[in-house]
Amino acid sequence: MQHFIDVIIPVPLQKLFTYSITAAESDFLKVGMRVSVPFGKSKIYTGIVYKIHSEAPEVYEAKDIHQILDDTPIINEQQLRLWQWIASYYMCTLGDVMRAALPSAFILESETIISKNTQKEIDESILKDDEFLVFDALQFQSSLKIHDISNILGIKNALPIIKRLIEKEVISVEEEVYEKYKPKLVRYVRLHNSYTSEVHLHQLLDDLSRAPKQHKVIMTLFSLSASTKKPIKVADLTKASEASSSIIKALIDKGILEEYYIQTDRVEYKGDGNNEDTKRLNENQEAALTEIKEAFKTQSVVLLHGVTSSGKTEVYVKLIEEALERGEQVLYLLPEIALTTQLITRLQNYFGEQVSVFHSKYSTHERAEVWNNVLNNSHKAQVVLGARSSIFLPFNNLGLIIVDEEHEQSFKQFDPAPRYHARDTAIVLAHLYQAKTLLGSATPSLESYFNAKQSKYGLVEITKRYNNVLMPDMELVDIKDKHKRKKMKGHFSDRLIEEMTDALSEGFQVILFQNRRGFSPIVECNTCGHSPQCPNCDVSLTYHRYKNQLRCHYCGYVMAMQDNCMACGSPEIDSKGFGTEQIETEVKALFPNYKVARMDLDTTRGKYGYEKIISALEQQEIDILVGTQMLTKGLDFRNVKLVGVMNADNMLNFPDFRAHERSFQLILQVAGRAGRTDVRGKVLIQSYNPHHNILQQVSTNDYLLMYNEQMDERYNFKYPPIYKQIKITLKHKDYLNVENASIWYAKSLRNAFGDYVLGPESPPVARIRNQFHKNILVKIPKKQSLAKTKEAITKINNSFLSIKDFRSVKVVLNVDNF
Ligand code: ADP
Ligand code: ZN
Ligand code: ZN
Repeated sequence: MQHFIDVIIPVPLQKLFTYSITAAESDFLKVGMRVSVPFGKSKIYTGIVYKIHSEAPEVYEAKDIHQILDDTPIINEQQLRLWQWIASYYMCTLGDVMRAALPSAFILESETIISKNTQKEIDESILKDDEFLVFDALQFQSSLKIHDISNILGIKNALPIIKRLIEKEVISVEEEVYEKYKPKLVRYVRLHNSYTSEVHLHQLLDDLSRAPKQHKVIMTLFSLSASTKKPIKVADLTKASEASSSIIKALIDKGILEEYYIQTDRVEYKGDGNNEDTKRLNENQEAALTEIKEAFKTQSVVLLHGVTSSGKTEVYVKLIEEALERGEQVLYLLPEIALTTQLITRLQNYFGEQVSVFHSKYSTHERAEVWNNVLNNSHKAQVVLGARSSIFLPFNNLGLIIVDEEHEQSFKQFDPAPRYHARDTAIVLAHLYQAKTLLGSATPSLESYFNAKQSKYGLVEITKRYNNVLMPDMELVDIKDKHKRKKMKGHFSDRLIEEMTDALSEGFQVILFQNRRGFSPIVECNTCGHSPQCPNCDVSLTYHRYKNQLRCHYCGYVMAMQDNCMACGSPEIDSKGFGTEQIETEVKALFPNYKVARMDLDTTRGKYGYEKIISALEQQEIDILVGTQMLTKGLDFRNVKLVGVMNADNMLNFPDFRAHERSFQLILQVAGRAGRTDVRGKVLIQSYNPHHNILQQVSTNDYLLMYNEQMDERYNFKYPPIYKQIKITLKHKDYLNVENASIWYAKSLRNAFGDYVLGPESPPVARIRNQFHKNILVKIPKKQSLAKTKEAITKINNSFLSIKDFRSVKVVLNVDNF
């Protein structure tokens, strides 16, 4: 009998590839193990075994695999089922899912670039000969492709060696250019105990007089110890004594030096193992907890709608505690890990080292470490905190998923495929484990609230803030009127200035919110009206005062700010619109005696960017913080009394059917940062249109009214959650080509779905990175089968791709687009 395996490789292929294996391999292999396989003319990939069988492929001859890479599966059956669900629901390939799901250290391929792990002291003695060759080659070249390494070693398949080197943390997989965390182990040396007495020491130095290099190492060790009075790192000793690592190794082998390691955990948990007790819930929280548990008896998903600062987190904590007592793993999903240091600390205080954090900004090794801890159900990974991609972790006893701030759009992956929504995928994941999912938000998405109203989810509400702190007092300021009456200074109304003056003089802090999606400051010539455009995209460049640069927010193009108009040469150039930077400048001029800081994409780059600003605010080193939506995310500051929304209109007018819902969510979330203690907070919302329904609903905190009104619109205009929708984007560098292609595509869709097809349309920014875009929208009524609809779209897509003229057009399918 012949033996075969179907393998997932990290390439977007419609079908899985079948490879031939021996009987012995067939006995050994299990679904979920990795193998290295040849692909195409000369490529090598890491594949995941999907199926083991005995049916030869019909249309091609199966190639042999190169090698088995694992002893046991690295992904489990539930994960494979989840991958399959994602591929079919979000209309992508298993290869796409594999690439998103696995840390890149797990998916080596011939093009993978590796480099030396500079974060770790490497002990050459642990390297086998072939491993040493690779290590040595990397001393001379900063990075190598795996396929270069095959050449260096003179073997066809270097993946097993690379895999070992990664496990020994000798090398890193490139791509990750992030700041690295601390290494896991630092190697130290000290003089062996038996030489601590004066006599023995003299004897030793005498003995070493014939080995001058070793002698020098010992002398250096003394002087380093004397001067630093701290443990001595091998690296420091090597450097200071100019000795090679082999000399130090010789001293260790002789028993003169003793090496030891100090473990510095990557995701640092600084506690002492004595965990804090979880808090006693107040009666509102207690009632919510009871209702949630009651609902979980019959429902697998519950939505917790609790106003900002109602103490939702403490309710989650109780549920986590109970899950842990039952021996279950918990996944705590967050929209953005970088913003949640406060939460991480809070959970670590309760659950100590059982908390792991899975973070896209971590290095390959760090992610692989969390992965393995979860896979092995280790004590360290009982509660996993993570953003979107943590739904891919190999849980084995998952009992509870918490999706915090479930309304956040960043749960949806936009690019590349799989374009999955982590909240929705989490619910599917929970089903696979028969686990429960709790969605939490002060401003639930219409989708989730709708599901709750339809009794698909349980619904639990907390309407009071913890400690009965009052909801902030909301005031709408009509800036059209203020302009008319000359009551504006720059972008600040007299009311905002008054309230700021009061709050600041009482020693409180102020937050000013400026939506990122609002007008960014663009530059315009007063003489001819020209404004500099991005050469690659159809947008004006944005002015960044701090660096005196013009930048494209779509493709990252940068040029220096010009002194004269590029079109007419006039020096009269003006910046229009306002971004956070401009607000910051104005506020500094208005309040010169207070410390002002800004929090947006530009000021929070780098791993600790957010932390610095957040802790400065906590330490009250900042009086006024100007920021974008980053401010809205779950921050808990005691001393902020006033929140100013600089301009509500640009959010409301954003061309998207979710713009109103989002404005409501954003404003209420920033408002929630005000007055979290006994003093009642104040929120001032500046707008040209203060009578806008959404602003009225915001100012009365009337979620239900907003929900009902928005749902009416969604019904009338056939939008989600009433209708499902799939957005199809075609891209090409030639406009005519993408136009013809999109007309063809839309026509074929219309043949199948009639009026439920909209477009093709050029999006507001019609060209990005030199590619012209066209969008087509397919709306799917609830009664129409989603599976059949997708089947039909796939068919149309396949015929489209078989047309020669259209072959170079890129098609993006986005299910449940955001
Ligand atoms: P939410 O997540 O609903 O915005 P939090 O869980 O952050 O609210 O709670 C708001 C504040 O109230 C936090 O500072 C938290 O420590 C405090 N708090 C909430 N519940 C309790 C409780 N049961 N005992 C003591 N403090 C609590
Ligand atoms: Zn000009
Ligand atoms: Zn651009």
